[in-house]
Amino acid sequence: MENDIAGNLQAIRTCIDHACATAGRDPASVSLVAVSKTFPAEAIQAAHHAGHRVFGESKVQEALPKLDTLPRDIEWHFIGRMQRNKLRKILASFAIVHGIDSMALASAADRIAGELGRPAKIYLQVNLADEATKGGFSPSELEAEIPALAAMANLDIQGLMAIPPPADSDAQARQWFAALRELRDRIEASHPLRMPGLSMGMSDDFEAAIAEGATCVRVGSAIFGKR
Ligand SMILES: *Cc1c(COP(=O)(O)O)cnc(C)c1O
Repeated sequence: MENDIAGNLQAIRTCIDHACATAGRDPASVSLVAVSKTFPAEAIQAAHHAGHRVFGESKVQEALPKLDTLPRDIEWHFIGRMQRNKLRKILASFAIVHGIDSMALASAADRIAGELGRPAKIYLQVNLADEATKGGFSPSELEAEIPALAAMANLDIQGLMAIPPPADSDAQARQWFAALRELRDRIEASHPLRMPGLSMGMSDDFEAAIAEGATCVRVGSAIFGKR
């Protein structure tokens, strides 16, 4: 499996197409972020050679040397947990940042993006199950903070992102993904802010996420192999 990155990518795309067909969605409405964390630049090169252009990394120190050596036409997504002292590097190097998980981080990103002269494309991370091990806004906190977030002129808010708890079944996974979509819908119904993006779904559950409206799935091991 590790050696057949092109074949794995093709298989994932086929699954995405099927999930979209089942849900009555346009496959073009779902973008696939190939999560290459822990894998060497050669693996990313193989995926790039197979035509893939969107990759996700979760650690700055690990990612920057890879970014330096790989083709310029890659769209890099930062999907990891962020430390404030790394934010400037992250915003300067990555096209899209998933996982802005607090007001403090949001306002720091707003300020730094202003200094960089380029709006920061971000997802707001939601901690759906109130898990102590995960960052993110609680749903009620996020709803309360939306006006303040919307006022941050240098943030280009794409939508919401979540990493739900492990689920025992497809039905259970779908409940978490539906909860993120419903939160987004509630926010859009009561504020002028538009948040079309839903970054949700990984190797084990991206089809369930697509069934519930994911616009961005983050898939690592199903493409690159076990970490
Ligand atoms: C590692 C990671 C993924 C990919 O996980 P897989 O199970 O390998 O597909 C997706 N999202 C985030 C935030 C991650 O850290």
